[in-house]
Amino acid sequence: MSQPTAATKIVIIGAGASGIACATKLLEYGFQNVLLLEAESRLGGRIHTIPFGENVIDLGAQWCHGERDNIVYDLVKRHDEELLESTGPVYENYQCVRSNREIVPEHIANRLKTIVGDSLISRQLELRNCSGSLGSYLTNKFFDVLRQPENRDIDEVIAREFFDNYQKFENSVEASDTLDQVSGQGYLEFWECEGDILLNWKDKGYKELLKLMMRSGEMKSEFGILEQRLILNRRVEKIHWNRNDKRVELELNNGEKCLADHVIITVSLGVLKEQHLRLFEPKLPKDKQRSIDGLAFGTVNKIFVEFPRAFWPEDWTGFTLLWRDEDLKDIKGTSRAWLEDVFGFYRVSYQPNVLAGWIINANGRHMESLERDEILDGCMYLFRRFLSWSIPDPVNFRTSAWFTNENFRGSYSYRSMETEQLGTGARELAQPLSVVVTSPREREDLQQSRCDKPLVCFAGEASSEHYYSTVHGAVEAGWREANRLADFYGLPIKTIPKSQL
Ligand SMILES: Cc1cc2nc3c(=O)[nH]c(=O)nc-3n(C[C@H](O)[C@H](O)[C@H](O)COP(=O)(O)OP(=O)(O)OC[C@H]3O[C@@H](n4cnc5c(N)ncnc54)[C@H](O)[C@@H]3O)c2cc1C
Repeated sequence: MSQPTAATKIVIIGAGASGIACATKLLEYGFQNVLLLEAESRLGGRIHTIPFGENVIDLGAQWCHGERDNIVYDLVKRHDEELLESTGPVYENYQCVRSNREIVPEHIANRLKTIVGDSLISRQLELRNCSGSLGSYLTNKFFDVLRQPENRDIDEVIAREFFDNYQKFENSVEASDTLDQVSGQGYLEFWECEGDILLNWKDKGYKELLKLMMRSGEMKSEFGILEQRLILNRRVEKIHWNRNDKRVELELNNGEKCLADHVIITVSLGVLKEQHLRLFEPKLPKDKQRSIDGLAFGTVNKIFVEFPRAFWPEDWTGFTLLWRDEDLKDIKGTSRAWLEDVFGFYRVSYQPNVLAGWIINANGRHMESLERDEILDGCMYLFRRFLSWSIPDPVNFRTSAWFTNENFRGSYSYRSMETEQLGTGARELAQPLSVVVTSPREREDLQQSRCDKPLVCFAGEASSEHYYSTVHGAVEAGWREANRLADFYGLPIKTIPKSQL
C-alpha cells in the first residue's frame, strides 16, 4: 500500500502568496509530490517587490493590514519580530490641494476628514440594514452630516471636491470603478484585523513574506523548500477534470501534459472570469460559474516618481488632488482626461525622494495602454497644476499594470451589487470539484478517511470569505486547501484560522 503523503501528486497553479502558502503547508503535512506551476517568469504574483530609488518598491501588496487574527502578522512574529514597522499616519495627515493650487486650510480639511472617518465606524452598524450600495450610503451620510448646523461654515464647493476625491480613495480600497457598484451589505463581509493596518516591510518589501514561507534564508537557496518543486514560465492552458478518471490532466504552454491526483487553482478571479470557459474541460458547474461571474474584480494601479530631492515640505506626508469643476474642463475630452482619477500622491517609507500616486477605475486601466513618456508627462502636469513650488524633473519613474497582464486581469476582488443579486460568494468559489470514491479497494489504497475526493480545489484571495483582497486572505485560502487535502487523507489538521471556524 502506498503512503499517500509521498505518492499523491498535487499540482498548484500559480505561485503567488496563496500558491506558495498552500505548497509549503502541504510539505509540512508530509506530502512530497508537490509541484507549483507559474505562468510568469517570477514568483510572487500580486506581491511584486522591485529595486527602485534608494531601495525597493512594491508594485502590488505593500502593507500587512492589521495584527490580530492576521495570519501574515502571526507568521512574521513567529520568525522575526523586527521585519514589520508602522507606516504612521501617512494616509491620514495628507494635505488637500485644489486645482488652483490652494491648500485647503488644515482646520477645514481635518473636519472633512473627521466626517468621513466617523462614517468608517458608523457604517459597520448601519450597513447591516442597508439594501443599497456603499456609494449611496456614503453620499447620504456625508451630506447629512455636512448639513448639520455645526458644519454650515464649511464651504460647500470645497466639501464636494473633498468628497469626490474621498470616493476615489474608497474605490482604491475596494478596487471598484464606482462605489455604486459596491454592495453595502457585502462590504461588511470583509473583516478588518485589529491593530496597525499599515505595517510596512521596511527596506525589504513584501517579497520577504514569500522568503519566510519558503524558508529561503535558512535553506540558503532562492526557492528554499520549494526548490525543484516550482516551474516558472509554465502556463496551464487547459484543465481536464474527468470525474470518471478521478485524476486531472493539465495541458501546459510547452506542449507537455501533466497528470495529478489533486489540482489547486490559485489564479486571480480576473483570470478565472476571462478564461474559465476555455480553461476547464468539461466546463465548470453552473454554481461555480455563478460565483466567478458574481464576485467582482477591479483595477487599482500605482505610480512611483523619484525626484532628485524631496521638493515637498518636511511635514507633508502626501497630498490629495481636489479638482475644481472649472479646472476639470481643461482636461475633460482631451488626451489628459485619464488624470482625473489619479487621486493623490504619498510618501513611501525608506524612500526619501519618492512619491507614490494611485489611480483607479477605467482610467487606471487606460493608463496601462499609454507610453511611459505620456504617463510621466501627465503626472508632471498634475504636480505643476496643483502645487505652487518649482518641481524638479524626475529621475526615475515606474507604474504598475495589473489589468493588461493576462495572468492577473486586475488588482483584487470585492463584493458588488451583482454578487448580492446572484446570491453567491467566496464560499461557492472555494467549493472543490469532487469525485465520489466508492470502491473499498481504492479507499484503502488511498488511506483516505473521506469518500468525497477533492479533485480540483480553489484558493486565492477571492476565495477568502472575510479577508479577500489581501495577502493574509490569500495565505489563509492556501492553507485552507492544504488542510482540506490533509483532512481527506485523515491527517491531523494543523492550524485553523478564526475566520474559517
Ligand atoms: C496594487 C495592489 C496593491 C495591493 N496592496 C495590498 C496591501 O497593501 N496589502 C495586502 O494585504 N494586499 C494587497 N493587495 C492584494 C494582494 O496583493 C493579493 O490579494 C494577493 O497577493 C493575491 O495572492 P494570490 O496568490 O491569491 O493571487 P496572485 O498573486 O495573483 O497569484 C496567482 C498566480 O497565478 C499565476 N497564473 C495565472 N494564470 C496562470 C496559469 N494559467 N498557469 C499558471 N499560473 C498562472 C499568476 O501569474 C500569479 O502569479 C494589493 C494588490 C494590488 C494589485
